[in-house]
Amino acid sequence: MLRGKISSIFLDVDGTLSDDISWLKITESLGASKEKHISLFEKLKRGQINYEDAKIKLINLWQKTGNANQKFMEKTYRSWNLRQDANEIIDYLKKNYLVCLISGATDLYVQTVAEKLGVPDWFANTELIFDSKGNLIDFIYFQNQAEKKHEQFKEYIKKYKISQSKCAVIGDGDSDIVLFKELKYGIEVNEFPHSELQKLAWKSVRKLIDLKEIF
Ligand SMILES: [Mg+2]
Repeated sequence: MLRGKISSIFLDVDGTLSDDISWLKITESLGASKEKHISLFEKLKRGQINYEDAKIKLINLWQKTGNANQKFMEKTYRSWNLRQDANEIIDYLKKNYLVCLISGATDLYVQTVAEKLGVPDWFANTELIFDSKGNLIDFIYFQNQAEKKHEQFKEYIKKYKISQSKCAVIGDGDSDIVLFKELKYGIEVNEFPHSELQKLAWKSVRKLIDLKEIF
């Protein structure tokens, strides 16, 4: 049990509090091709296309649907469900700890998740930029998601004057690797463990609700 040993818990969103990969799901929800989005991302990872070009192509893909506006995207994000035990576990954790979401997803999505769960503190990787009519025109995304999460974590503990040793992180994938390396208490939530994260994890559980045994 970590009760009394730590004060703050940082949670990932995609794959941890939800089953979704929000980047691909929003592409599908807008009415665009998920395969085209995956292909762009793969080309970016292989260095066949640079970040600016990949970003412009993805925004074009979204804009062509006619749905890439703040109202549609917000309504869509709100309609998605979290894992069935997400609310229960967050309510449980909030009783004894400060809880903060740190996600690689867009700000508009992480904000809706934070509101649903009643979590006041959250960080997203991507800022969506809309024009005065609410149409999506750009976004600011950090390619090194794991390092971005680490920077956001440091910003948070500085703001609240918390020692790093009093923090735990909960996640499932690549973007959590740096925090799992940095923190003593990294807890992986996964049905099928992520090989690298599992090696760095202090503990691994299969379901969110299993976290009650740790916290
Ligand atoms: Mg994740």
